[in-house]
Amino acid sequence: MQKRNYQTELEELIEQLQSEGRRPTLLVHACCGPCNTKVLSSLSEAFKVTVLFYNPNIHPKPEYEKRRDTQADFIVAFNDKNGTDIEFVEGKYDPRRFFQATKGLEKEPEKGKRCEVCYELRLQEAKKFADEIGCEYYTTSLTVSPYKNTEAVNTIGDTLDESQNGSQSQFLHSDFKKKNGFRESIALAKEYDLYRQNYCGCIYSYTSRFGGMGKLAIPSENKHE
Ligand code: SF4
Repeated sequence: MQKRNYQTELEELIEQLQSEGRRPTLLVHACCGPCNTKVLSSLSEAFKVTVLFYNPNIHPKPEYEKRRDTQADFIVAFNDKNGTDIEFVEGKYDPRRFFQATKGLEKEPEKGKRCEVCYELRLQEAKKFADEIGCEYYTTSLTVSPYKNTEAVNTIGDTLDESQNGSQSQFLHSDFKKKNGFRESIALAKEYDLYRQNYCGCIYSYTSRFGGMGKLAIPSENKHE
């Protein structure tokens, strides 16, 4: 079966909206500032964007705060430079939810089953928040990175839309890494002088990259047997 080209689908939708003279509301789930540079420069003209930073996977808390602040500061700088009107909202930092959802999947490799649960957790929250504030569409910056499973991200979005009858928001497909998108995100992160993390986010991605927990031991309130 031929693979879907999610980025082409997105570009076609944007063309259609622009031909109709529409600029709908869009909730963008941001995994981090550097990835979201590419997303906001691609979408802020065609949509009225609100960014949600909801990432209970990020460990430890100071790292979470650093990534959150990087995202918030970038939006201020981006709006100043481009005259855009992007809003920023921080979701709840609830790492216990991440640890509970990924129980039993600690040893999975990156792009494996644990990551699918992690994507779903964040997309669920994005959709819920998009509905709460009345956004027509929602999406995520997760497809910028080549380290993420793009097919899984888009499939999860579709499944959430199909399973939630009362919901009004619709998932916006994407594959932002296409057409040099990932490279562009790195260039933009340098241009805006953003902090660029060197592990995906959770404690398991840290230990698999650096080979030990070091100072990152899981706080007792988040531990599970
Ligand atoms: S490796 Fe990244 S995507 Fe996978 S579970 Fe950890 S934080 Fe989530």
